[in-house]
Amino acid sequence: MDLINIVTTDLTAITRGRAVPLDALDGHAGSGCGWVPANSALTPQDIIAAPNPWGSHGDLRLVPDLESRMHVPSSNESRPDLHFVHGDLRTLDGEPWAACPRTLLANELARYADTLGWRVCSAFEHEFTLSGLDGDAPAFSLQAQRTAGAFLSQLADALATSGNEPETLLPEYGRHQYEVTCRPALGLASADRAVNLREIVRDVARQCDLQTSFTPQPRVGSVSNGVHLHLSFTDREGKPVLPDNDDTDGLSPLGRHWAAGVLQYMPALCALTAPSPVSYLRLQPHQWSSAYTCLGVRNREAALRICPTTTLSATPRAQQFNLEYRALDATANPYLALAAILIAGRLGIEQRLPLSARADQDPDALDAGQREALGIRALPGSLAEALSELSQAETLVAQIPEALLATYRAIKRQELSNVAGLGNDALCDHYARIY
Ligand code: GLU
Ligand code: MG
Repeated sequence: MDLINIVTTDLTAITRGRAVPLDALDGHAGSGCGWVPANSALTPQDIIAAPNPWGSHGDLRLVPDLESRMHVPSSNESRPDLHFVHGDLRTLDGEPWAACPRTLLANELARYADTLGWRVCSAFEHEFTLSGLDGDAPAFSLQAQRTAGAFLSQLADALATSGNEPETLLPEYGRHQYEVTCRPALGLASADRAVNLREIVRDVARQCDLQTSFTPQPRVGSVSNGVHLHLSFTDREGKPVLPDNDDTDGLSPLGRHWAAGVLQYMPALCALTAPSPVSYLRLQPHQWSSAYTCLGVRNREAALRICPTTTLSATPRAQQFNLEYRALDATANPYLALAAILIAGRLGIEQRLPLSARADQDPDALDAGQREALGIRALPGSLAEALSELSQAETLVAQIPEALLATYRAIKRQELSNVAGLGNDALCDHYARIY
């Protein structure tokens, strides 16, 4: 019998849920399936944070959003097709539950539409490492593509037939490291797509007898796995709002405030976008992962990057124009990360923040005085530091429901204690196994 899982991707970016017979899904469309509030306080180590705001009390409903339904046919007769559907957490009376990350994003997208008149288009670009491949091959090489050829072509099929619009599947710089991009999508669909990509990569890898990991830092000193979030906005007439009409590399006045907001709050955002102890082995200078709060044009050391446009494309440049947030990894919940970045950008506009932190060279090559003059700050050096930045960022924090934040803080406190005492090698191994 085919089963379908109604899933929620939790605050630690782990997709959890319950299965129902596929032909019974319509019967669950309105009321969903049961869910337990304290499940939302699970750490990546599968230990429920103690204490947490929920304890043993209460019940929720996980209500499927049928438009987000995924069906990935299996290419192997002995394995069932993959069926799942994203859900929103609600109270038993059907009210949105304040600690649901997918709901947080939906609310922020609605605020963008209502207050700015902007539609949000985005794409999460993922890097990951495969293990179980035979042999080594040079970085970016055709050989590396062929070493994983069966996996990559099955993956492209799985992503395309399930409507995830794969764009590029490439061998990356690291040993057995690959990157997959899918076409940008509007609103919630983009964060759903990030989850789909992670789960479909894992599923196809299993079918090919490979293991995969999205962990930010596979080994100490290895090339890191990033998730880069590409963002663009259009106004009510469908016109791109970020690019400046007069300057091909430049941002519009509102775009400048938006970027200034993201940069201003970035040390705090890191607690949500680079949310694991191991994330901070990645966020180091010279890894192209970003280590400072700066905006760069085509600068891969910049945490926020103005991506290149090309006249070779049939798409007008203004429509190609997008900003890329790089201080993000796959231990971050995509709904929460995208919502928090959108909130920071909106605050930048509301506060009319000036944009200063631009660097078109490696910000680590500037001296401390030059960085200070530009307003460029180092990103936090650890999860504990990032969490303390978050608690000090009162204006940002005030935009996120307290129930969600309290659960998040409880998880991260417990997670830090779960891995306390692990050296960096053991930390890398530990997170590589989970993510
Ligand atoms: N691997 C780098 C990271 O961790 C990104 C390299 C690239 O620019 O693709 O973010
Ligand atoms: Mg890459």
